[in-house]
Amino acid sequence: MATVTIKDIQTITTQPAGSRLIIVKIITSEPGLYGLGCATFTQRYNAVVTAMEKHLKPFLIGRDVSRIEEIWQMGMVHSYWRNGPVLSNAISGADQALWDIKGKQAGMPVYELLGGKCREAAAVYGHAGGNSPEAVADSVRQFMENGYRYIRIQMGGYGGEASRIVKPEGAPDGAYFDPREYTQNMLRMIEHVRSEVGDEAELLHDIHERLHPIDAVKFAKEVEPFNLFFLEDPLAPEDLEWFENMRQQCCTPIAMGELFNNPREWQPLIAGRLIDFIRMHVSQMGGITPARHVAAFANMYGVRTAWHGPGDTSPVGHAANLHLDLWAPNFGIQEWCNFPEHVYEIFPGLPEVRNGYMYPSDKPGLGIDINEDLASKYPCQDEVEWWTQTRLPDGSPTRP
Ligand code: MG
Repeated sequence: MATVTIKDIQTITTQPAGSRLIIVKIITSEPGLYGLGCATFTQRYNAVVTAMEKHLKPFLIGRDVSRIEEIWQMGMVHSYWRNGPVLSNAISGADQALWDIKGKQAGMPVYELLGGKCREAAAVYGHAGGNSPEAVADSVRQFMENGYRYIRIQMGGYGGEASRIVKPEGAPDGAYFDPREYTQNMLRMIEHVRSEVGDEAELLHDIHERLHPIDAVKFAKEVEPFNLFFLEDPLAPEDLEWFENMRQQCCTPIAMGELFNNPREWQPLIAGRLIDFIRMHVSQMGGITPARHVAAFANMYGVRTAWHGPGDTSPVGHAANLHLDLWAPNFGIQEWCNFPEHVYEIFPGLPEVRNGYMYPSDKPGLGIDINEDLASKYPCQDEVEWWTQTRLPDGSPTRP
């Protein structure tokens, strides 16, 4: 078989539904054969485009497309400095595109290359929300009517809405929240929703690393009676040592990982059995290659996968998640964001969700394509992000 090489790489940006998305297209020396990958880092997308165009592309051109593992290993160390966002996003896009190409060459979906299916479809969870406990319960019921059995419940966005904030004179503008009021309101909301829907639905909640570590431990303990499927990001990556404390205090299942970059972040949590779900952004951690390693590693410790899957994972990234989900023996759950119909037109083959399960297309590779003409009708809008300008009641900056 003649060697097929990387001939060109295009970095496509588009913003069809809120988030700025980055798609990497690897064009090969074989006419008509190309692969797609997701490199999305929506808040700093221009940096990823430059990393790919100016640095990774010259490194990749001419390489043998069959050598995915070798390219990934070399790609991660080639810049000497490693394990950070931006470069890892660019590498993720290239890695996913190479898996897509390998699948197309084999005439098989990527899940077949990983070892084959453990399941026919991936159970997904949707995002229910509202501004009152009653409104959240209504939103949950709507998801249940649409076949969802796993539902994340948030009230008033991340950190919630506060009514008691007293700011100092001259406090700057920003996305204010009150950690104390947040925990009180969320406990009320979670208790209400559980009492409304009974045991029929699995409920999830995302703290989004908004609390001081000891308050997060307390919260995990207080929600224990409401049987969450998992509590997400209770602590920040900067506070990993607190997971041990949380574990000693309660058995609320914990999900963590979307902000992780470095293996030193996830290794101790998995090996220490300090979390229950590992949920990196596959388009940020370096792609399918490292995600496959992590899933196998986590499987040894009884930790399940729950890859990051909101709107700032592109449709191509969701397809990559799904192939991992179908294969992984330790698959737990898949986050899902319900793309509007026009996004299905831009990305033919975008996985479909029916009755709470996500199904792949029957095409080889990742099974998804991009209509570049349509995508170009939704150019990325540059803006200074507001919701990440998060402040505590006294105005001091905090994590979003
Ligand atoms: Mg999250």
